[in-house]
Amino acid sequence: MQLSSLLQRFNEPETLKMAKLGRELRAQGIDVIDLSLGEPDFDTPEHIKEAAVKAIHDNWSHYTPVPGYLDLREAICTKFKRDNNLDYKPENIVVSTGAKQSLANVILALVDDNDEVLIPTPYWVTYSELVKIARGRVVEIKSTAKSGFKITPEQLEAAITPHTKVFLFSSPCNPSGAVYSKEELEGLANVFRKHPNIQIISDEIYEYINFVGSHESIAQFEDIKDRVIIVNGLSKGFAMTGWRLGYIAADPAIAKACEKLQGQFTSGTSSITQKAAVVALTTDLRPSMDMVKEFTRRRARVMELIKDIPGVVCSAPEGAFYIFPDISYYFGKSDGKTTIHTSGDLCMYLLNTAHVSSVMGEAFGDPDCVRFSFANSMEKIEEAWARISKALASLK
Ligand code: PMP
Repeated sequence: MQLSSLLQRFNEPETLKMAKLGRELRAQGIDVIDLSLGEPDFDTPEHIKEAAVKAIHDNWSHYTPVPGYLDLREAICTKFKRDNNLDYKPENIVVSTGAKQSLANVILALVDDNDEVLIPTPYWVTYSELVKIARGRVVEIKSTAKSGFKITPEQLEAAITPHTKVFLFSSPCNPSGAVYSKEELEGLANVFRKHPNIQIISDEIYEYINFVGSHESIAQFEDIKDRVIIVNGLSKGFAMTGWRLGYIAADPAIAKACEKLQGQFTSGTSSITQKAAVVALTTDLRPSMDMVKEFTRRRARVMELIKDIPGVVCSAPEGAFYIFPDISYYFGKSDGKTTIHTSGDLCMYLLNTAHVSSVMGEAFGDPDCVRFSFANSMEKIEEAWARISKALASLK
């Protein structure tokens, strides 16, 4: 049997691969601590669950409109006004089965063969693979810990060519935790003002998980707003990863294109999730803010725990729930059995010796780093870092 050539063009997500390896070890009875996955370890807030139960009893059980129920799209517009002071209408909004699908829709709607998509490193694993599926070309713009994992307007300008179609980034950033300030976004917006054919995909899924102040969207700059596609969803801010709901706000032409694609792939997302989402987006945000408080505590603790570990170098993340330290200090070191050459080697070493799963930086476009989540209980985080510290100490 010959599978399609499409499958050769992209890789499976490294994050899911690491989680799978962890599960396999766990099935053998080994106590693996998972610092690889990107999801809150909290339960969905009660009032949102109740809305879903009500939706079931009220028989919201039929196919839904492809871009989402109108009341949900209105609720999303209300959220944009409340949280971001942005004006959108339901025609700008397309609801999907997760921000991942929203990104796939938008990239397939915009990117043609060999179009260039600019992506600052480090970036979320799926971005580059979706671009490859669309037959576009990934152009990385390197950022490093020194620049707070943010790119400058000069770097952006230098990366633009006549083939540049899309700029794609996340703030807060997965994996680095970088959060762009209003001034930093304005610097990038000034470059886009000179290049009117570039579309900007702004992934804001970690909007609420921000440790440094207010969330800023690049869509706030009115003269480029119609070229900005905001991607967001319920997974991170409301602890609803399994419910599968994402959305975009975009120019109506792009929204229509996404609707057309989604109409053939999945149709509208779950009726029950949509009804619960209306409640999530328009009522009490306190449970989300309580989660953020807990992430703030854990972030402080993790920074304390890694402070004295040689060769684990990183500054405190400004948002999201990961640290992304440079661990290149360990390249060339060995415990007598295993020699570490890459961040992938280090992740496997930590999985096999410390029984802690993490994700290699290569997958995010930064081979010197490893991503460790702090979306786990304080107790597990402390235990994991004690084990990591011991395993790293054996590398000479
Ligand atoms: N964007 C980023 C930056 C993410 O980290 C994730 C989830 N890990 C997503 C999008 C996808 O989220 P969803 O669960 O809504 O598909």
